[in-house]
Amino acid sequence: MQTIAIVGGGFAGTAMAIHLSREARRPLRLIVIDPAEAPGPGRAHASSHPDHRLNGQPVMHSLYPESPLHFEHWLAASGTLAGDPVSIAEHGAIYARRQDFGRYLAEEFRRHQGGNPSASSLEHCRASVVAIELDPIRLQCLDGPLIQSDAVVLALGWGQVRAPAGLEAVSDHPAFMDDPWNLARLRGIAPDQTVVLLGSGLTALDTIVALAEQQHRGPIVTVSRRGRQPPTQPVLKSPLSSVWDLMNAWPVPWIERYGRPRVRGRRFTLFGRNSSGFEGKDSAIRRPSTACATRSGISGRTGRRSKSAASCVI
Ligand SMILES: Cc1cc2nc3c(=O)[nH]c(=O)nc-3n(C[C@H](O)[C@H](O)[C@H](O)COP(=O)(O)OP(=O)(O)OC[C@H]3O[C@@H](n4cnc5c(N)ncnc54)[C@H](O)[C@@H]3O)c2cc1C
Repeated sequence: MQTIAIVGGGFAGTAMAIHLSREARRPLRLIVIDPAEAPGPGRAHASSHPDHRLNGQPVMHSLYPESPLHFEHWLAASGTLAGDPVSIAEHGAIYARRQDFGRYLAEEFRRHQGGNPSASSLEHCRASVVAIELDPIRLQCLDGPLIQSDAVVLALGWGQVRAPAGLEAVSDHPAFMDDPWNLARLRGIAPDQTVVLLGSGLTALDTIVALAEQQHRGPIVTVSRRGRQPPTQPVLKSPLSSVWDLMNAWPVPWIERYGRPRVRGRRFTLFGRNSSGFEGKDSAIRRPSTACATRSGISGRTGRRSKSAASCVI
């Protein structure tokens, strides 16, 4: 049985494991490696703040191209929607909590662990990968096992938020917060203090709602290069135009707007209607080049290897 190691259990890694288990032509051993408690939420959808919400409607967030309403049905069937009536906007659009989307992803991962079309096994290894060796592929985890695999997918996401270039000199100052989702630190801001937010996008909104909820009374100043606020979400023209439809439309609107991405196109292909599965020639699963592993910053970011871990092979 071939082993695929998926480094990162956020949306990308979790969706990758689920879709591989659905598309593979023979059973695979799929190992999602992530230090989090469970694959699913990742960085983006782990916020525990009840007003940190998805930036699009459920139809944009379904895991399955053939079932654009899957997440919306999950919201209803799980009782999540009933427990969160303010998620329904005046025009009927739903803006679910990000933590609920994370729960949906985690549940779908677990459901596929219980059974999937290719009879693949889905495992979660709770660890951080600090280095990858090629030929043969071996992933070294921090204080964890050495994992051998036939292919590896890097689904590392955004990484740790850092001070932007030019602000390193003040990054140690007690009034400087480089992680806007650190709710404990936000709670340490006194209600009358002035808060300056660098950026005026969705992350600024996350911070503003969190401050508002803790009865902040002081001025909140947003600084932005273009002086713009996030636009109000449009009501979707067609309730069934999912993100999958956008990705499969040709020419892809995102490519028209931003230019052709060098790597993402492969992901579009794998999840496309004509997905050829794990063995397809356009498969996103491939042996990483050394440059790829290095660019990811895996070895640089997480520090030392654990010597004792090297003897533990799973
Ligand atoms: C705050 C925020 C809100 C967002 N809201 C939305 C939204 O509403 N709708 C939307 O579509 N998109 C949203 N996005 C965009 C979002 O980033 C993507 O949609 C998607 O969720 C990213 O998933 P990911 O798996 O690539 O990354 P992440 O969610 O960042 O997950 C990466 C995972 O990799 C793990 N990891 C990293 N390095 C290692 C390592 N060395 N070893 C093991 N594991 C590792 C991390 O622990 C993490 O769990 C948001 C992004 C952010 C930051």
